[in-house]
Amino acid sequence: LNRRLAEFGTTIFAEMSALALSTGSINLGQGFPDTDGPEEVREAAVRALRDGRGNQYPPGPGIPELRTAIAAHQERRYGLTYDPDTEVLVTAGATEAIAAALLALLEPGDEVIALEPYYDSYAACIAMAGGTRVPVTLRPSEGSFRLDLDELRDAVTDRTRLLLINTPHNPTGTVLTRDELTAIAALAVERDLLVVTDEVYEHLVFDEAEHIPLATLPGMRNRTVTIGSAGKSFSFTGWKVGWVTAPRELVSAVRSAKQFLTYVASGPFQYAVAEALRLPEAYFEEFRADMRAKRDLLAGGLEQAGFKVFRPAGTYFITTDIRPLGESDGFAFCRALPERCGVVAIPNAVFYDHREQGAPFVRFAFCKRTTVLEEAASRLKTPT
Ligand code: PMP
Ligand code: GLN
Repeated sequence: LNRRLAEFGTTIFAEMSALALSTGSINLGQGFPDTDGPEEVREAAVRALRDGRGNQYPPGPGIPELRTAIAAHQERRYGLTYDPDTEVLVTAGATEAIAAALLALLEPGDEVIALEPYYDSYAACIAMAGGTRVPVTLRPSEGSFRLDLDELRDAVTDRTRLLLINTPHNPTGTVLTRDELTAIAALAVERDLLVVTDEVYEHLVFDEAEHIPLATLPGMRNRTVTIGSAGKSFSFTGWKVGWVTAPRELVSAVRSAKQFLTYVASGPFQYAVAEALRLPEAYFEEFRADMRAKRDLLAGGLEQAGFKVFRPAGTYFITTDIRPLGESDGFAFCRALPERCGVVAIPNAVFYDHREQGAPFVRFAFCKRTTVLEEAASRLKTPT
């Protein structure tokens, strides 16, 4: 393994999902729903397979039906217009979109500012692209993790090439506010930075929180690569359909990298996701309401079990602080938890460069059936 990748080892998600299987535990670690997405979308995939649509290499940028549906979704929801032919790119999940964007846009030695804790693939992809990551830590404050805008500003140097933003944010559940996004946008404009914004949880925002795409802010459309995912928005994480929307030159750059990573992926599923993106608003409302109820169920269970809960405004993850339980090392806690009570969770420290900052935090996924969450809550309350 080369020096660029040596520090990364095996992803925590593989490690923890394997632990869940080997111990027969409830897996609240890796973020995937235990209920598949809508029946009609599955049927659309079956039809595509059966009718021979997408069984051979689809077009490099993605099938036109899907690119059109993605552009229509951005326009309808956010008033963002993208040309489906030149400003939309279908990728093998958001994971490939992140990798291709960073590989395409970074020169060796470029600095990338990422919100810490950050989704684990960011660090590895920045490293593969020869870039240097510069984390800006979200800090707990009154029940949520917030961005210190001065710290963000101070992190920019002459070497900074891009800001890698994620909202709604995994693992903290933070949804950046309009004020925060406005400040990020002003900084990007002032320092002439590119922005890659991972908005895969765009449909999972709760209560008063609102998802505001960075690309909608003044000066941002022309410098922003926005990433979405059918895995997250429609509960088909195994299909690996993601996408990028950006101005033509940026899409073209990302595509240059993408063509040598997978070339294309997910043929028949692209047809199905095109239909999914056209689902009526009721689908998204129900999805949100269902996940919100699940959030409340698990958050309540975790509170009763003694955790401090950061009730998330978005995503399907709850970050907790384990110190009220007399624990301080999230790694040790997560490694022991399956034995103690048959539940798997993720230590947030893996998402930090400053590991000590993340040590006492542990993430639980709530995208699981109600009965599973109830059982998990009851196990967490009565560890053996
Ligand atoms: N970004 C974030 C913030 C994620 O949490 C995930 C995965 N769950 C991804 C990207 C990857 O998405 P995909 O499964 O579409 O590759
Ligand atoms: N994004 C998911 C999570 O944060 C997992 C994706 C993966 O396994 N790479 O749990």
